[in-house]
Amino acid sequence: MSIKCNEFRELLSNAPLYKKSKISSAFASNPQNLHDFGFPFECLCNPEPQTHLLKLDEESIRRMVDASPFDHNSALSGKPRNRAYGEYQLGSEVGQRFIEKLTGECQNCKRSNPIFLIDFFTELVEGKNEYFFYAKKIGQNPPFSIKPETFVSKLLSTENLDFYKKA
Ligand SMILES: [Zn+2]
Repeated sequence: MSIKCNEFRELLSNAPLYKKSKISSAFASNPQNLHDFGFPFECLCNPEPQTHLLKLDEESIRRMVDASPFDHNSALSGKPRNRAYGEYQLGSEVGQRFIEKLTGECQNCKRSNPIFLIDFFTELVEGKNEYFFYAKKIGQNPPFSIKPETFVSKLLSTENLDFYKKA
């Protein structure tokens, strides 16, 4: 089942680098949930943003399977579990941090675009004694850019915008 997380979708589609967003803890419980996460993004195939699916590379998936708290095979075989993705339990002090390279695949033309480098981390919320899971982009290609129309409408107040439209 795919995870619903508006904050993470917004982060992928619209956030500038280094903007920190609190995202669903389902990605911490099992980072494989990142695979096939849907979000809108610009593509050369269409003037409108297209649905893209997030893809993990095979090496990451293999490491995530090794670290999975739901997979006891590695424990039985005596092979040390990969700790890169740690274990995560809400309400306990167990947390994790991993940096992941992720690719977006356009569902219209199957082109692989864009590429993100994302820092995922657990952080204690001051005063709440609760751990939340966050993500922030630390790299993106194509680079993040402010869309001209959004930029203009943010610059102008409602009053000015009215005038601007009439002009
Ligand atoms: Zn496309």
